[in-house]
Amino acid sequence: MNHSPVPDRRTYVHENCQGLTETRENSFEELSNPLSDVPRTWCSTCNSFGPVSEFAWADTGEKIIDYRARHSARATSLERVFCSRVVWFGTLALALIGGVTGGFVLFADSGWLLKLVMIPFTGFMCVILIGAVLIESTKTILWRVCGFRDTRRLK
Ligand SMILES: [Zn+2]
Repeated sequence: MNHSPVPDRRTYVHENCQGLTETRENSFEELSNPLSDVPRTWCSTCNSFGPVSEFAWADTGEKIIDYRARHSARATSLERVFCSRVVWFGTLALALIGGVTGGFVLFADSGWLLKLVMIPFTGFMCVILIGAVLIESTKTILWRVCGFRDTRRLK
């Protein structure tokens, strides 16, 4: 087990302008994830998004696409598909539809006020529940593939 604190930020450099950008919180988690298929990232010097292939980590000098390839080498194609944005958004959209449909069935005989409150609520709960399952499964896949559940620890 690694008990050292999880890094909360990392800086990357845009090769086109040599400008440095610090990434934190959600964007750091997303960019540090070697199974992420996010195609673009922000450059605070250009003040615009650029393709991830134009960026490298400032501390190691490694290109982010090389970093992704190196740390995701052990991932199966199924694991890559599972961690892709299309599957995530698709699954969450299905969870919302499923939850709302479930709400319609469960509260079919209730008054309109209860329907108005409970049908969005069951849809919302379904998304939260399935989202938690997705996050947990992804962390388990990441742990198997690159040795860390939290990829912010990767160098
Ligand atoms: Zn730039």
